[in-house]
Amino acid sequence: MLRGRGLFLLRTFVGGKELTLCRKNVPTGLNTHLSKLDRNVHFNSNQQILHISQKVQLKRFPQVQQPWLAVKRTFPEKNLKEFHTSGRRDAPPFLVLMIFKSFAKVSAVISGRAFRQWWKSLPKHKSQYFGNYVRRNIWKIVAGVAGVCGLCGVFYSAHLEQTPITNRTRFLALNNKQLADIIEVECEQHLKEFEGLILPPSHPLYEVVSRVTMRLLKGNQDLHQIRDRTWTIHLVNKDVKNAFVLPNGHIFVFTGIFKAVSNEQQLGIVLAHEISHVVLNHSAEQISFFEFIDFLLIIVLGAIWAILPNDGLAIVATWFKNKVVELLLKMPYSRLLETEADEVGLQIAAKACLDVRESQVFWESMSHNSPDTEEVAFLSTHPSHLQRAKHLGDLIPQAIRVREYCGCAPLPIRDPRNVDIAKPAIGG
Ligand SMILES: [Zn+2]
Repeated sequence: MLRGRGLFLLRTFVGGKELTLCRKNVPTGLNTHLSKLDRNVHFNSNQQILHISQKVQLKRFPQVQQPWLAVKRTFPEKNLKEFHTSGRRDAPPFLVLMIFKSFAKVSAVISGRAFRQWWKSLPKHKSQYFGNYVRRNIWKIVAGVAGVCGLCGVFYSAHLEQTPITNRTRFLALNNKQLADIIEVECEQHLKEFEGLILPPSHPLYEVVSRVTMRLLKGNQDLHQIRDRTWTIHLVNKDVKNAFVLPNGHIFVFTGIFKAVSNEQQLGIVLAHEISHVVLNHSAEQISFFEFIDFLLIIVLGAIWAILPNDGLAIVATWFKNKVVELLLKMPYSRLLETEADEVGLQIAAKACLDVRESQVFWESMSHNSPDTEEVAFLSTHPSHLQRAKHLGDLIPQAIRVREYCGCAPLPIRDPRNVDIAKPAIGG
């Protein structure tokens, strides 16, 4: 379906906003100027490395009305002028920050506990004296705390930016170099962990993964996050229904995933979701947000150990604080990122001319075949399978429009959503 057509892309400007459209959408009345996609695919002996590059001639077009609007982002574009944004400054290496954070946590506990014991050991007239001193200087203390909060606020707002594609405002404190350093270590660990389990490119399932991946990458060459990466596939011979993509372009697919997907379309939906995490730079965002929260909570940790009357209560309160943060901040944030990856992944799949209806079928099938994992979404880092199926189902009409405007072949008349949940077929 992509052959002979996916090799062309066009960029245009609508109302000052750049859009990327597929070759088939170019209205005949417009003066278009396209250059052929320069496609390079590199291989090595062990792993297939997919690197696709392209050069697209940019040209400014006059105002265009419908039907372009159907391809426009459905996400609101916020005016970032209201925020003070700045480039990522050279921050200390991430490992140094991690060591400092651990040290600060231990220090908070020790100093909080020491303060409590010192306070308890004070004779009554001394504790009354310090109590009066605090009351006399309460506004100075409040001002000091407000100053610290203000500095945190300034730091936070100085590191706000918009996500690509969805235009969501987010906090991002990690720069590309820091993320690359972290991911390099993580990637090495995974490669070591899966040593001896990685199947060769000649394996039939590898060919399936490679074919589906190529299709997704070729259909989304307008995204520089996809175009400017070297993608490497690792098919891991492990019975795990999972796949993940690291920000450095290393795609890990476990053979167990073929027990969860019924066809290549569904595999494409899964991979599109994982690739969208990379496109949206979710790794850096999640690390930034979680670490920022952890640093703020060091103050709370110190207060818990200083104020509560004994160690037992302080331990319980620390555990409770961690759970609350997990449930009210971290898990909802993870679910937000997952939902966003589902939405963008569906667009990526649509642009690759996949049958986007299979996204809903896949998650309904997952819910049907893995009822045990249908846990309460509130207690999970991911939305429930059924929630994902429903949300994707709501987005399918729009994804079909994207598909149409990309000139994809019509979808099969037989709608997979109307068929009983099929048993996974690929590799079995
Ligand atoms: Zn995900």
